[in-house]
Amino acid sequence: MADTEQVPLIDRHRAVMPNWLALYYADPIEVASASGRHVTDAGGTTYLDFFAGILTNAIGYDVAEISDAIRRQLDTGVLHTSTLYLIRQQVELAERIAELSGIPDAKVFFTNSGTEANETALMLATQHRRSNQVLALRNSYHGRAFGTVGITGNRGWSTSSLSPVKVSYVHGGYRYRSPFGHLPDDEYIAACVADLRDILETTTSGDVACMIVEPIQGVGGFSSAPDGLFREFKRVLDETGILLVSDEVQTGWGRTGEHFWGISAHGVTPDAMTFAKGLGNGLAIGGLVARGEVMDSFTANSISTFGGNPVATAGASAVLDYLLDNDLQGNAAKLGDRLLDGLRGIAEDNPVVGDVRGKGLMIGVELVEPGSTTPSPAAALTVLEETRKHGLLVGKGGLHNNVIRLAPPMTVTEDEVDQALDALHRAIATAGEAR
Ligand code: PMP
Repeated sequence: MADTEQVPLIDRHRAVMPNWLALYYADPIEVASASGRHVTDAGGTTYLDFFAGILTNAIGYDVAEISDAIRRQLDTGVLHTSTLYLIRQQVELAERIAELSGIPDAKVFFTNSGTEANETALMLATQHRRSNQVLALRNSYHGRAFGTVGITGNRGWSTSSLSPVKVSYVHGGYRYRSPFGHLPDDEYIAACVADLRDILETTTSGDVACMIVEPIQGVGGFSSAPDGLFREFKRVLDETGILLVSDEVQTGWGRTGEHFWGISAHGVTPDAMTFAKGLGNGLAIGGLVARGEVMDSFTANSISTFGGNPVATAGASAVLDYLLDNDLQGNAAKLGDRLLDGLRGIAEDNPVVGDVRGKGLMIGVELVEPGSTTPSPAAALTVLEETRKHGLLVGKGGLHNNVIRLAPPMTVTEDEVDQALDALHRAIATAGEAR
């Protein structure tokens, strides 16, 4: 044991599958402790965290209200019990999410992750409609399990072609590189709707189960369709009863600032929504909320033993209280605008920035070869490493791996946004000089 302890953790990482995994940073970070919006690594360096565990930490780290709620549940001795018994916390959380969803007569199905939530949505929709045909957006990410890998339309993450769902991909999400060019919103929407009709008529037999969309594509680089597109899509879907599922795994819980759910910006109520990440503030929880009539056609009681377990649902209820009591959606709107404005200013003097986009605390910065729209993954890598040197952790992603993703905990302060802008400014300037 003493010998093993001498070996750096990175060298022992081969015991973890998949061991080809590209860890972030040339010298990967081991987070040893955390508090608020800050994480401290094993070597004692503290960073401002603007990726929040890939948007899992809606509130931030070490929040007393959440830890106390979890501890109270642990004190009962019940870490888990059969989901065949009544679980009070689960029922209460389901009632609240059903109400918050705005979906009429909604019912909630709990899972342990976003992937499971989307697998459940696929199972529900395909069973309800007796069809395995599904529509998804190009550049999408919905998970990498057997069904969800099929609806993930992003090359880097489409790790298997053997999915049981028959999928057709439509345009809409990634506007910066849209083949329709830079059209005004209404013309862009009309082009996407025409594409949807064409896809339906040419690549499907017509009896499609559902369409699944991310209101803002997360892994795809925080890119989004203009508001109103999904309302127009739903009009087409409603003609033949195709269900609209909104994947709110990243956009839910007020992160986009203007609405509690990302899809609401489109002026449409979907038939179902999937959720995860932020609701647990780090605990493993996810789920699906859907119209009662659709949910009632489901014959699966659960898809795993742990969905909606007492600890996860007790913690998630406390997270929901915190989010609502402290108007974190309002904070996301206000500080998201500050971040967006600051980045737009930086972009003006730095042609290595091709696009700045997003809503609330979900902001993407797409890096390009200056003077062109050619993606620059090298510039994104420089920004990632340089921001770390300036004490800031950010995300990276996008179809071409050239987008910096900013998504701090929704409790972030003005000072922290300004610190992040300063670090980003310096890192982006360095990335530009290197070109
Ligand atoms: N949907 C979206 C939009 C996501 O971003 C993710 C995770 N990045 C998932 C689903 C899968 O969620 P999980 O990692 O919790 O399984």
